[in-house]
Amino acid sequence: MNRRKLLKNAAAASLLPLVPKSATPENKYRFAELDPVTITKVKSIVTCPHGIELIMVKVETDQPGLVGYGCATFRQRAHAVVAAIDEYLDDFCRGKRVENIEDMWQTAYVSSYWRNGPVLNNALSGLDQALWDIKGKMAGMPVYQLFGGKCRFAVDCYGHASGHTPEEVAEDVQGFIDRGFRHVRIQLGGYGATHLAEQADFKTAGFAMEDDNYMDQNVYLKMIPKLFEEVRKQCGEDVELLHDIHERVQPLDAIRMIQKLEDFRPFFIEDPFSPENNRYFEMLRQHTTVPIAMGELYNSPHEWVDPMAKRWFDFIRIHISQIGGITPAMKVARLGEWFNIRTAWHGPGDVSPIGHAANAHIDLAVWNFGIQESVNFSDRLLEIFPGAPYVEDGYMHINEAPGLGVDVNETEAAKYPLPDKFKYNWTQVRKKDGTPIRP
Ligand code: MG
Repeated sequence: MNRRKLLKNAAAASLLPLVPKSATPENKYRFAELDPVTITKVKSIVTCPHGIELIMVKVETDQPGLVGYGCATFRQRAHAVVAAIDEYLDDFCRGKRVENIEDMWQTAYVSSYWRNGPVLNNALSGLDQALWDIKGKMAGMPVYQLFGGKCRFAVDCYGHASGHTPEEVAEDVQGFIDRGFRHVRIQLGGYGATHLAEQADFKTAGFAMEDDNYMDQNVYLKMIPKLFEEVRKQCGEDVELLHDIHERVQPLDAIRMIQKLEDFRPFFIEDPFSPENNRYFEMLRQHTTVPIAMGELYNSPHEWVDPMAKRWFDFIRIHISQIGGITPAMKVARLGEWFNIRTAWHGPGDVSPIGHAANAHIDLAVWNFGIQESVNFSDRLLEIFPGAPYVEDGYMHINEAPGLGVDVNETEAAKYPLPDKFKYNWTQVRKKDGTPIRP
């Protein structure tokens, strides 16, 4: 055997489990692979402890005690993801090896022929993250070590400040600063500041559903520069400020509003356009130097590869389970490095603690990390997900257990079953005349 092949085998062997029992000169190099570890079952685990549907994948293996967990949370279509896992992925994976994550990802990705949709991508993410979890457990290392180790001591996060008035938001921002945060996202009320809108004509006319939301885009566009002005006045120049447009306004209106924010030096402005309006990023870039973040609604590489290669935005904030897990997210992160695009993974409450851990493992390891959206986990969530990350002084920390470091207490999870119907309607927003607004 030539030297190159010998070294390659030696390197591969060093990652395999249970090696060496005793390091003797005889077993330093290995020329045959160890017995494969195979998948015996892939199943969904669901829980809804705070009215937020969380979906996980558990991968079981033929090695006693060796299991992995991954996040497959897509709360708006939870039952569909559960079916994709239990009815399709389980059958696809049984008997296959756990070690070959890339091969599993590529083959599962095309197993449906049609691909890149949110339901199947989330199921795939659950599988992918669980396999990385198992890989770390086999190696005896936290997953970030498998990506090359730490590039920073912890994960810098931003908090979410909001209120019905600029003054209320400024007060909330100060609370985050007092708790050690350096970055704070500022929002006026709910998505699109719907509380600022007066009576909707479509409601008076009896059009659409009574609980549909009404957004007055002009009021929103006028208020956001005032919000920045007030927060800068009250909280000073040092804190980094972020804002999420949540799409919802016309692209040229968004561009004009972002120009008005330049003097307040935003850290980034997020989601100015819906993915269908991707081409407007080129125009936005020509009209402002405000850093732009985009990506939580992306599902397909067709949506992000070209804009990243053209440097149309500065932060890629993909929702990792929506693109199929850690394997594709690492490729997105590495792609961004060459175009000076930093990561800012989507990290809301409808990502399970396992998904937040997956975000953080990547955040620790990639050079072009930007910022991480963070949430605090309740005691109830910590009971269901022992080992979950925690945030202190604005930094997220993970534990150093092998794998992703988060377990699932299935007995606790089962106490909070999925509801039969999805009732939350924040995606239903209309203009004054009732025209649906696209997030
Ligand atoms: Mg957003």
